[in-house]
Formats: sequence, structure tokens, C-alpha cells
Amino acid sequence: MTLTLAHKICLDPNNEQEQYLKQACGIARFTWNWALEEWKNQSENGLKPTAFALKKQFNAIKPVDFPWMYDVTKYASQQPFIHLQTAFNRFFNGLGGYPKLKKKGHHDSFYIGNDHINIDGKYFKLPKLGWMRMRETLRFSGRVISATISPRANKWFVSLNVELCQAPKSCNSQAGVGVDLGIKALAALSNGEAFEAPKPLKKSLKKQKRMQRSLSRRLKGSNNRQEIKEKIASVHAKITNIRLDSIHKLTSFLTNHFGGIVIEDLNVSGMLKNRKLSRAIADIGFYEFRRQLEYKSKYKGNYLLIADRWFPSSKICSNCGNKKEQLALHERVYHCEACGQSLDRDLNAAINLKNLLY
Ligand SMILES: [Zn+2]
Repeated sequence: MTLTLAHKICLDPNNEQEQYLKQACGIARFTWNWALEEWKNQSENGLKPTAFALKKQFNAIKPVDFPWMYDVTKYASQQPFIHLQTAFNRFFNGLGGYPKLKKKGHHDSFYIGNDHINIDGKYFKLPKLGWMRMRETLRFSGRVISATISPRANKWFVSLNVELCQAPKSCNSQAGVGVDLGIKALAALSNGEAFEAPKPLKKSLKKQKRMQRSLSRRLKGSNNRQEIKEKIASVHAKITNIRLDSIHKLTSFLTNHFGGIVIEDLNVSGMLKNRKLSRAIADIGFYEFRRQLEYKSKYKGNYLLIADRWFPSSKICSNCGNKKEQLALHERVYHCEACGQSLDRDLNAAINLKNLLY
């Protein structure tokens, strides 16, 4: 079994490199639009265009009409034909609309095939561009099969598609686990274990709060204010790293030890209305948690079950199945009127999730 995963990494291009990236995006957009116009013209004249034929036609005039395209990777002016064919195939099969012209600032990206990609640690190399710094190293080890570069909010990103080379390490455990992302702890497991939120996180969050208060007292435009803003940004980056790290530890632990994993499908927008919960959800980063569990269990062969959004995991008694109509957020202990069981609220929810496996 081969498995392909994508990793999107922020790039740090210098000015010259950024020029190249912009130019390559422009060429990809120009080529797509050229091919689409030509496709339309030819079909209006009773011809049956194909991307392959259009590409031949384009390459014949390229040296004379578009010599500037040779400044960047050939993929910028070749791949759009393949993408256009895919888009028309989708259209002909009723899976997508008629392909549209691409606009500057809306559809900026270009594709690169693996023979033009070179990666060494935190550096990424393109033909005629040299080495460009990446903010992270590639998360997966395997064969890089393609890359797509695109800008977002004044930053550049490369999305690398990697075919994993090792055979997936399968998790041999038959054990199942339910995971309740907690309000109090980071996560409660159905076997009684609990993952605490990392301590440095609490400290950094306090620091962030303090600085934000101090920021609100400074005058707009003052040097002082700018300094505090920069400090806040750096504490924020630190918080993000601590969170990511703890979520990686948790998802690795789960996929290494349990063959079957059940989590909730948290309705985050609904939870954000409840201000007591919103902090915990934001701190934990539910989407990141789920994303990591999904790719790690795909890789290791775990069975991952996402409980239905409406499954009342907190309200059901894990011992007798009786369901409470009301359960206030402050009730930390689940006490069942029907069978008399009392246990930690999050543990009760985790056991209910685990029971969905059998
Ligand atoms: Zn009960």
C-alpha cells in the first residue's frame, strides 16, 4: 500500500526569489487562460480540442511569442494544460462547472513536478532560483512527488506531496479507547488516564493576557506600543508551539497504543457560543487534534471512529445507559440517579465514546 500525504510549509524567499515566485504564478495563470481561450475558439469552430494538442501548439510558438517563460521552471507553463484537461474531464462528467479564466490575486499558484524539486533539510531548491529557506523540515520521510507554491496573506507556502516509502508501521494493539477532549484536562481517556494541559502553556497564556492589558494602555503609534506588539507576537508563537507539541504527543500516544480510537465530532461554532468552553477548545486546537489523528491512524492502520455530532456522550450514564436531560457545565462529577454510579464527568464521556466501538 502506498500512501500520499501533503505537508504545507511556509517559505522565506529573499526579494529576488519572491520575484521568481510571482512570475511563475503569473505564467501559470497566463498559460491556463491562453489554453482555455483557445479551447473555446476551437470548439466554437467545430473542432475537438485536447490539452495535449493545445500544449504542442503552445510550445511551438513559445520561443518566439513568450521567451520570458524560460526564466522559471518549465512546469509553470506546462502543468496548466494537464490541469485544464482534468477540469474539462470533470465538467464533461458532470462533476464540475465549465472551467473559468483565472484572475490575478485570486488564483495564484504554480505546480512543480518531482524532477524539478530538491529538498535538503530546511532548504528547497527550484531550477534557476537556488536554495530557498523553509520554516520547517518536511514532516514525512518519503519520495516527494510534487509541490504547489502559492501565496496567502503576504506569505508564501509550498505544499509538498510525499509518497511514504516505509511500509506503514501498524499498531498491533486490539485495545480500544474513547477520548474526551476536556475542559479541565487536555484529554480524558476511557481507561482512566488523563492528559494534562502542559504547564508552560498556562504560564505563557497568563503572560499574554498581561501584555495585552498593558498594550491597551499605550498610545496608538507610540514606540512602546510597537515593542509590546512584537513581544505579544513572540509569546503567541511560543504558545502555538507548545500546543502543537502536546497535541503531537497525545496523538502519537493514542495511535501507538490503541488499535481502535473514538473521538467526538466537536461542533466548534456551537461551542464558541458557550464562553466557558470556548477557551478550552481554542487552547487545545480541536481541528489540529483531529487532523493529526486522521493522518497518523491512516499511516499506522488504527481504526478511527468519529462519533456523530449529536451523540450525547456527556449525558449518558456509561454504566446503565440512562440519559440525563440536563447536565450543567459546572457538574464535574457524573452522578446517575438510575443506578447510583458516580464518576468524573470527562471519564464518563470517554467510556461512552469507547463503547461505540463494540
Ligand atoms: Zn446509571
